[in-house]
Amino acid sequence: MPLKLYNTLTRKKEIFKPIKKNSVGLYTCGPTVYNYAHIGNLRTYIFEDILKRVLLYNKYKVKHVMNITDVGHLTSDSDTGQDKIEKASKKENKTAWQIAKFYTKAFLEDTKKLNILKPDITCKATDYIKEQIDLIKILEEKGYTYEIEDGIYFNTSKLKDYGKLAKLKIEELKEGARVDVVKGKKHHADFALWKFSKERRQMEWPSKYGIGFPGWHIECSAMSMKYLGETFDIHCGGIDHIPVHHTNEIAQTEAATGKKFVNYWLHGNFIVLKDDIKMAKSGENFITLKALEDQGYTPEDYRYLTLTANYRKPIMFSEEALEGAKNSLDKLTTKILEIKATTNESNGKTDKYEKLFEKAINDDLNTPKALAILWDLIKDQKVNNKTKYDLILNFDKIFGLNLKNIKKSLIPQEIKDLADKREKARKENNWDLADTIRDKITKKGYSIEDSNSGYKITKNV
Ligand code: AMP
Ligand code: ZN
Repeated sequence: MPLKLYNTLTRKKEIFKPIKKNSVGLYTCGPTVYNYAHIGNLRTYIFEDILKRVLLYNKYKVKHVMNITDVGHLTSDSDTGQDKIEKASKKENKTAWQIAKFYTKAFLEDTKKLNILKPDITCKATDYIKEQIDLIKILEEKGYTYEIEDGIYFNTSKLKDYGKLAKLKIEELKEGARVDVVKGKKHHADFALWKFSKERRQMEWPSKYGIGFPGWHIECSAMSMKYLGETFDIHCGGIDHIPVHHTNEIAQTEAATGKKFVNYWLHGNFIVLKDDIKMAKSGENFITLKALEDQGYTPEDYRYLTLTANYRKPIMFSEEALEGAKNSLDKLTTKILEIKATTNESNGKTDKYEKLFEKAINDDLNTPKALAILWDLIKDQKVNNKTKYDLILNFDKIFGLNLKNIKKSLIPQEIKDLADKREKARKENNWDLADTIRDKITKKGYSIEDSNSGYKITKNV
């Protein structure tokens, strides 16, 4: 079953053909570490994790590189504003280095909780300043750069196909020029390769151009080429990377090498809130994994939610949606425990499920379909339980829901606390409150039965 992936470059689902026969070079743009990752960011990393797992399932050897942006990402994508890390450093009264270290650690902990496989190489921009300067020098030698008061800029008009990824038209870009454009820039789309330190910064380096720091895009070109070569297979990020970050990565890399940079570009869609509000690290609408855990959800509940939609579609996040995912996952794990604990004599065919599953995941990572196939398998009475269980674990190589390690389901503390509160309300004859709490417990997927000796909570299956 060939693996098909939707390539942003061609706007088509294409059969995936790696450069080297059995191995894949994969680069995923990592976080800017000035704050915690929000669940939107984490959805993008889950999508990339599914992609990697699908590649591994297809028996490819994957070399996965992810960067950590610890310098150069400004508050505006048009090379104006403050460096996000330096800004956070002032706000939190820590050094820029402490900020980057702290949020990198927090990010890696979140990805671990979400069962996201670790990249083979995790590289931070500040460790590769030399490589970035060397790349700028090549661009300078080839005549793609110019210097202005603000720094060294890339001249986008020197490239015939600038903007091909986003299908941008240079004329439109010029017309759309905004007021925050840097003084002296020749074209609106031109972008910074090296910015001069106008005042002393915590993160700055000497270079032949003067003391300064790299622009945001150059790090990904320099580090991906270092580890994956001048042309490699797959590059990913969120959809917001298409018009600026990835467009500029392509421009500067292809200008420097004269070769095609990446064969397949994959982009994950966003988590949105009600009324189409974007979740942004710098905005108010910011939900972290920890906040979900504090409300009694597990990282797997969130992971399950993201699997219920195709990665190219937005997900409208709400507590009800997460609650629904939690209930489904609870039902799933309960069923799996039953399957594990019982034997049956059936010997129906299972290869049909394997084939359907492979077809779904190889069809541009169709996780909602793959989940539906898992549920069909679980309900199929004709399949032997031992075989069924093995197949479930095999499918979980893609889902990453940790289905091998599920324990006998215990009643969560949150539900026990609610039941205690309800009992107290009953003793005080506060029947309205008791009923409201019972409804809450039911909504969370549990039932409560009263008896002379107290109450009993059971999980709804
Ligand atoms: P950042 O740390 O801001 O550089 O972003 C990290 C990753 O999260 C990038 O791949 C972004 O494209 C992605 N991203 C940002 N906001 C969202 C969102 N609301 N939903 C999904 N992905 C997002
Ligand atoms: Zn990047």
